[in-house]
Amino acid sequence: MPDQAPTRGATPARKPGARPGRKRGEGQWALGYREPLNKNEQVKKDDNPLHVRARIENIYAHRGFDSIDPADLRGRFRWWGLYTQRKPGVTGQHTSILDTEELEDKYFMLRVRIDGGQLNLEQLRAIADISTTYARDSADVTDRQNIQLHWIRIEDMPAIWQRLEEVGLETTEACGDCPRVIISSPVAGIAEDEIIDPTPAIREIVDKYIGLEEFSNLPRKFKTAFTGYPDHDVAPECNDVAFVGVVHPEHGPGFDLWVGGGLSTNPMLAKRLGTWIPIEEVAEAWAGVVSVFRDYGYRRLRHRARIKFLMADWGPEKFREVLENEYLERKLVDGPAPPVPARPGDHVGVFKQKDGRYFVGVAPVAGRVSGAQLGKFADIVAAHGSDRIRTTPLQKLLVLDVEAGQVEPLVKALSDIGLHARPSSWRQNTMACTGIEFCKLAIVETKSRAAWLIDELEQRVPDLDVPITVNLNGCPNSCARIQVADIGLKGQMVLSDQGEQVEGFQVHLGGGLGLDAGFGRKLRGHKVTADQLPDYVENVVRHYLDQREPGERFAQ
Ligand code: SF4
Repeated sequence: MPDQAPTRGATPARKPGARPGRKRGEGQWALGYREPLNKNEQVKKDDNPLHVRARIENIYAHRGFDSIDPADLRGRFRWWGLYTQRKPGVTGQHTSILDTEELEDKYFMLRVRIDGGQLNLEQLRAIADISTTYARDSADVTDRQNIQLHWIRIEDMPAIWQRLEEVGLETTEACGDCPRVIISSPVAGIAEDEIIDPTPAIREIVDKYIGLEEFSNLPRKFKTAFTGYPDHDVAPECNDVAFVGVVHPEHGPGFDLWVGGGLSTNPMLAKRLGTWIPIEEVAEAWAGVVSVFRDYGYRRLRHRARIKFLMADWGPEKFREVLENEYLERKLVDGPAPPVPARPGDHVGVFKQKDGRYFVGVAPVAGRVSGAQLGKFADIVAAHGSDRIRTTPLQKLLVLDVEAGQVEPLVKALSDIGLHARPSSWRQNTMACTGIEFCKLAIVETKSRAAWLIDELEQRVPDLDVPITVNLNGCPNSCARIQVADIGLKGQMVLSDQGEQVEGFQVHLGGGLGLDAGFGRKLRGHKVTADQLPDYVENVVRHYLDQREPGERFAQ
C-alpha cells in the first residue's frame, strides 16, 4: 500500500534518511519516522481513507452494516463525514467501560460540509430533503457551520451523495485526520464594516486541496478559520490555523496568520506568526502550514497530535522560519496585529448590508433544527426574495439580501416556525454539542438539557441586560468550546447529594474571546448535577448582576 509521503515540489518533506531528533521520537515524518506508531496511523497507512468511498458505494451499501471492515467503520469512514452514532439507552456511566462496538448503533451521523457556511436555497432544500427522507427528520447546525444529520443507513449513502453533489455539496473530509470544513465569517462579502472578504481564498483552498491525497493523512484533525470582519466572529483563537483580516499600513487589507489554537483537554490559543498575507497568497500559505503539520506534527500519541503541541514546543518564530525556509521558499511580509474586538458578535438580529439591503440572523435552540423546519425555512426565505443562507460558528442561521420592505414580514414568518431574530439573551447565547443522544464519547445529555435550561432561565432571569454565553459539552472534548464561554459546562458524572453518581457538569467560569480572550477558571468545587443546573446558573448570574461595577463584564 502506498505510503502517503508528500509528493508536490512546493511542499517537500525533509530529506529521506534524516536523523530522528527526539529521544523516543514523536513519529514526525520529517525526522524520518515513517513507521506507524499507533493503530490510527496504521489504518491510514494501510489504505488512504479517501479510498473508502468506493467500497461504501460498491460493497457496503449493498451488503449492509455487518459487512463493513472495522478499520473502515471506525477509522476511514470519517474522511467521508460518517461516524457510527451511539446506541440509544447506553448511559454516560458506560462510556468509558464499554467497547466501541457495544456503544455504537448501526446508524451513522453524517456531517455535511458547508465551507464558509455559505448555502443557496437549492442546497438548503437538498439537505432538508435528505433529512426527511433518510435521517428521520434530524438536523443540527454545528458550531463549525456544518449541518449534521443522524440515523443514516449505509444503504442510503450512494443516493445521499448523489443528491448532495447535484447541488454542489459534499461530505469529503468532513471528519478525520485531514483539513475539515473551513469556517468563515458568516457576513463575508456583505458586512458594511468588513476589512476583507475571504471567500475567494476559501474557494481556492477547497478547489485545490480538499479531497487531495497529499493532505489526507495528517497527524490529527485540522481546523481552519477565516474572518475579515472586525469582530473576529469565528473564534480564530481556537483553530489550528486562522486568517484574520487586517490592514497593512503600506499594502492594504490582507490577513494576519495565526497558528496552533485548539481546546479539548489541553486548551491553547493560536499564536500570531507576525506576517501579513495578501489574499492571492492565502491558499499557498495555508498549504504551507498544513504541510508543516503533516511532516513535523507528532504522530506517536493521539492526544499530542494536534498542531498546538508542535507550536507549544517550537514557538511562533521557529514555526514561521520552517514555513518560510522549507515550504514557501521565501520570506513573508511582516504585518501588524489586528485590533482586538471587545466581544465577537453573533449576527443575530437585523443588520444592514453594504449594498443597502439587510440580513436577518435567527437563533435555533443550541443549533437544533429539523429537515421539515429547514424546508419551511427555505420556503419562507424564497417568499421574501432571498436565495442566500449562512450558517454560523455559533449555531445560528442568517438570511441575506433582504429588501427593506421584506424585513419585518420575514422576521415574523421565521418567528412563526420557531426561528427568532429577537430571541431572549439566554436563547441567543447558549450553545451545546451533540451529547449523549448520538455521540459515543458523551457522558451526559446536552441538546435537550440546553433547551430546558434556556426555558428555565428565561423565566427566572428574564431581564438579563448583557450577553452571558453558556456552552454545554457532553464530555471533556470541548466541541462546544466551553473554555471560552462565560459559563462553560463540561459533562461528567458527579456525586449527587444522596451520594449517587449522576449526570452533571464541571463548571468553567469567566472564559472569553476578543478582549477577554482566556480560559474560564475551573474551581474544584464548581461541579453541579444536571438537575441543579438552572439553580446554579441563576445564582452565579444574579451574583454578578448584583455586584458588578458600571461597565464590568462577566468575564472580568
Ligand atoms: Fe461528543 Fe464530547 Fe464532542 Fe460533545 S464534546 S460532541 S460529547 S465528543
